[in-house]
Amino acid sequence: MLRSGAISQEILESMDTGVLAFDKAGAMVFANSAACQILHLSPEDAFASSSLETEGVVARCQEMIRHVLRTSEPIIHTWRESRICLNLSVKPWKGCSGALLFIQDKSDQDSLLERDKQFIANASHELRTPITIIQGFAETLCAYPKLSPRTVGDISEKIARTSKRLENLVQSLLALSNLEYFSEEKLREADLFEIASHCRDLVLGAYPNAQIAMVRTAPRLVVRADPQLLDLAIVNLLENGIKYSLPPAKLRIAMHVRAPHVLIEVHDEGIGIPPEALPSIFNRFYKVDRTQPFKSKGVGLGLSLVKEIVEKHHGFITVSSEVGMGSIFTIFLPLPSP
Ligand code: ADP
Repeated sequence: MLRSGAISQEILESMDTGVLAFDKAGAMVFANSAACQILHLSPEDAFASSSLETEGVVARCQEMIRHVLRTSEPIIHTWRESRICLNLSVKPWKGCSGALLFIQDKSDQDSLLERDKQFIANASHELRTPITIIQGFAETLCAYPKLSPRTVGDISEKIARTSKRLENLVQSLLALSNLEYFSEEKLREADLFEIASHCRDLVLGAYPNAQIAMVRTAPRLVVRADPQLLDLAIVNLLENGIKYSLPPAKLRIAMHVRAPHVLIEVHDEGIGIPPEALPSIFNRFYKVDRTQPFKSKGVGLGLSLVKEIVEKHHGFITVSSEVGMGSIFTIFLPLPSP
């Protein structure tokens, strides 16, 4: 049991939880700095006022305190307002017949949970669409065994195409989920030119008509990377450059050092991105509304995956684009110290 008031005071001040004490008349007699910070009160104001009077969360706290002073029963409540989430708990303060209010700021955890919920809802929606399509076509094949070979061929092709889309979606979801478990230990010194050449070869294998030039301004460019992940990011950018260009797509990968960063630029001469879409382009499930032949067959996860990969490498990504002229995606990675 602590005897020293000074020690108790120090402990209260070092807590992240806001602690406020009220006497039996409901007047505030103590607030630690966490409480003042969470409730946006300056300590002087907090002590000067005999009770909390403002609206919103403070009014809610006052109600809870009155309840505890009246009934001597503890009460808890979660306060939510836009992005703020506070756990409020009021208990009787037995020694003084007053009440103690504890406030925990859960806004960060709450917004993460909200983000996860939103992600699961979007992912389920995106999964349901191809599954429904495949199911519908498969049922048609079963229900009408005498369809012409041409119709059967058409339907089978649609099933195969939709299955591919489903596979891509599941792969992106798995990659995003694996990134959650990314470990720093996977980063090692790697030759950026080798990584970029490997990506170019992979993409040219799938799109043999595309043209991909490579430019570097330093003889050796080293980055700290998980090569497999960085491959995934660069391949995604290259594939987008091709998907959103009229064939034959003309791309360029340029690599330079601009201390304190190593830059990897992926240039295309495609259809470009409208300026109003640019701020959202890296958001999960965001797609630009396009007409054929550029209507996206993806689900809008590619660029969010690229951004998360780059961030795991302690870097960032930017985009500049002009409609009808093309786009440049630039990955900035930290230049390893010599
Ligand atoms: P998706 O897999 O649906 O293409 P992305 O996250 O990769 O999703 O891209 C999001 C949107 O950004 C796409 O709908 C597309 O319209 C646009 N976009 C991405 N890269 C390019 C590019 N190089 N040129 C033009 N538009 C692009």
